[in-house]
Amino acid sequence: MTKQQKAKEVVAILKALYPDAQCALHYDGQDWKLLVLGILSAQCTDRRVNEVAVSLFARYPTVSDYAHADLLELAQILRPCGLFQTKAKNTRQACAMLCERHGGRVPSDMEALLALPGVGRKIANLLRADLFSLPAIVADTHCIRIAERLGFTPKGCQSPVQTEKALCALIAPEEQGAFCHRIVTFGRDLCTARTPQCTACPLLSLCKNPLKKK
Ligand code: SF4
Repeated sequence: MTKQQKAKEVVAILKALYPDAQCALHYDGQDWKLLVLGILSAQCTDRRVNEVAVSLFARYPTVSDYAHADLLELAQILRPCGLFQTKAKNTRQACAMLCERHGGRVPSDMEALLALPGVGRKIANLLRADLFSLPAIVADTHCIRIAERLGFTPKGCQSPVQTEKALCALIAPEEQGAFCHRIVTFGRDLCTARTPQCTACPLLSLCKNPLKKK
């Protein structure tokens, strides 16, 4: 079986397992909110970000509110997310740039996204996939781990860029965004970092993880 054939099977199995692919970050469809959540998600769980977002979006309900926010007050709200001073600065500056350069909207262009403070390739790809339905692989920790276990990346690969590149070449463009949401759910439910539930895994026969039978 080629890697392409295996990828096709994996996509189909995960689609059947999780028909409703959902972004783990909760927002009401306003594009700038997903950007803010993405900035807050650095080294923080999605659950914590979603919790903090409730009071954050209540206190600052528009994108221009962030551009003019008091940094100390904003940082205090963001404290539970960790790295809160940096995240406060990045959030304020990124929202100010949206207002100044993009009419308050999130741009789709990769270069413009990467110019926003606190936005790396992972978040830029999330924004491109979720807001614009563009082909994009979000190489987060689950995606990197599972791609390696399935043999889509070289043994021991922990590189987000290498994972993104490998999966972009293997997963059909129209499937990429939803596939990444499914991988996150799969990584939480079954293919966890420490104790993957291999005996219950529908990908068992496709998996290259040497520990899978344990
Ligand atoms: Fe993950 Fe185990 Fe399934 Fe392989 S068999 S994908 S290691 S849960």
